[in-house]
Amino acid sequence: MALANKIIIITAPSGAGKTSITRHLMKTFPQLAFSVSAATRAARGAEKDGVDYHFMSEEKFNEKIQNNEFVEWEMVYQGKYYGTLRSELEKIWAENKIPVLDIDVKGAIHIKRQYPDSALTIFIDPPSVEELRNRLESRGTENAVAIDARVNKATYEISFKNHFDKTIVNDQLQRACAEAETIVKEFISL
Ligand code: 5GP
Repeated sequence: MALANKIIIITAPSGAGKTSITRHLMKTFPQLAFSVSAATRAARGAEKDGVDYHFMSEEKFNEKIQNNEFVEWEMVYQGKYYGTLRSELEKIWAENKIPVLDIDVKGAIHIKRQYPDSALTIFIDPPSVEELRNRLESRGTENAVAIDARVNKATYEISFKNHFDKTIVNDQLQRACAEAETIVKEFISL
């Protein structure tokens, strides 16, 4: 299979460490390009528009749904929409690179259904739900109610892990990164 039209999807419950693993893969493989999603939530901390997300109003997001500009979109959290833009994937493919998507479990399943042969789905499994809660608490970016919502959602999402091509248990970040590297190297060389 040529490089063109491959997709790598990294999914996990929030706090399972998928962002760190995704960043590691982006640094390791020049053939990869991060697919910047559209999102209706506000930017956090040092996040930049067009780099972390294409931040936009709900109105603008709805317009893009109507125009069929999304490969998938989800209301990931109450009232907050996230979506993968077709234009983003096409831009990356045109650069002869492989898009890497950091998206939620439902979005990952949705895209895999559309690209069954060319998409690789990797599920990052937290060692336990308790550990996940600890990580979210020590990250300190959400309040207690938001953390509870994420932990409940995580429990639900873990129940879908059998839908994915590969599962990596993130018990130790360095080891998990190495495992992800091996999986991606193989996929790139197919
Ligand atoms: P956060 O608000 O913490 O940046 O991200 C919340 C969740 O939304 C994460 O689990 C992230 O993977 C997911 N997400 C980000 N972009 C997309 C997207 O385009 N589609 C879907 N379905 N989920 C996304």
